[in-house]
Amino acid sequence: MSEQILFPVGDQTRAIHAGEAPDPVTKASSPNLVMSTTYVVDADTGFSVEGLQENDPWIYSRWGNPTVHQLEEKLAAFEEAETAVAFASGMGAITTLLFHLLRAGDHAIISDVAYAALSEITNDMIPEYNIEITKVNTSDSKAIAKAIRSNTKLVYIETPCNPLLRLTDIQAVAAIARAAGAKLAVDSTFATPAATKPLQLGADFVIHSLTKYIGGHGDALGGAILGSKADLTPLRKKTAIRFGGTLSPFNAWLILRGAATFPLRMQAHQENALKIANYLENHPKVERVIYPGLPSHPQYELAKRQMKNFSGMVTFRIKDGASQAKIFADKLQIIHYAVSLGHHRSLIFYLDSKALLESSFHFDTPEQLSSWKEYAGDGLFRLSVGLEDADDLTRDLEQALE
Ligand SMILES: *Cc1c(COP(=O)(O)O)cnc(C)c1O
Repeated sequence: MSEQILFPVGDQTRAIHAGEAPDPVTKASSPNLVMSTTYVVDADTGFSVEGLQENDPWIYSRWGNPTVHQLEEKLAAFEEAETAVAFASGMGAITTLLFHLLRAGDHAIISDVAYAALSEITNDMIPEYNIEITKVNTSDSKAIAKAIRSNTKLVYIETPCNPLLRLTDIQAVAAIARAAGAKLAVDSTFATPAATKPLQLGADFVIHSLTKYIGGHGDALGGAILGSKADLTPLRKKTAIRFGGTLSPFNAWLILRGAATFPLRMQAHQENALKIANYLENHPKVERVIYPGLPSHPQYELAKRQMKNFSGMVTFRIKDGASQAKIFADKLQIIHYAVSLGHHRSLIFYLDSKALLESSFHFDTPEQLSSWKEYAGDGLFRLSVGLEDADDLTRDLEQALE
């Protein structure tokens, strides 16, 4: 068998084979798990990462590891990116990107509703480094254009955003960022590369929490940044390797195994999510369902244009959601009442608006608050539709909604 496939292949073939090759020594067909932290090297090997070159032998596993490297190659194939850097978690990827790109005196624009831990560090910690943050409802491209300043270095968006599932038009925002000389980073954890390839739409960086759909099985934390070699080689050398939020080879190996079935799983997630979203939309107790694959989504046209797969995340509102959350936690038999998402198991969690607006989402304008209220009301359920039989999931919801 040759080392490389020399003809163009489909997504599922790529997911299985990209980044992998039979081991040259043992001819093992599956990827090796290399747990070694250090490697036997030549006597002229440098001691600082400053001198590290792309094709150098393995030296130390924080600098690079063969199993982690295989995963990085597979992820790059998913996103049609030049290269990828893996991290111990999605937040490891996000914080490394922010600290790599931003310096005192710089300005960054960030989605007003983004992953909670990111929102929280942009509320206080990042401004304390004298980096200015403007929160913008990035679904409104004009609001981004208005927020741009001469010192804007980064525009950071999440689409669909967690937990509202509002979308951002990546192409439109990329044009605004480029004109301003700012980098555009897109957290594509919810969309996944099955739906959207932000780099092809003009983004500079794509971020993934591999903990979610790409790993897909709820057993390994991981994160990644993808982009050009020009951007990511210095990010890896100067920041990622020194900050040390390195992905463990064991987790890389688990995520590699999950990633092999990623396109198949995403088709099944989407199919199930559409069924559940339709079921919920027709349920008398449900006030509102938000799913990019439903014609009732306020940005359905953008969803069809930007997402080849509507993914598996559905949010919905029920009158007195807090009491219903207790009932769900007690009565659901298949769906786990738990945080996180993108696993083969279905997961549901209630997000209380009052609590979240205190802890995480600090809005700059009244419009941002009214958009939140329009989508989330007093609180919403975030349902990560898994890969169980859709009829069993609706039956489970049905008995818990009675
Ligand atoms: C989970 C998540 C993250 C953070 O990832 P971790 O692996 O938990 O650190 C970032 N962005 C989004 C959209 C997420 O869902």
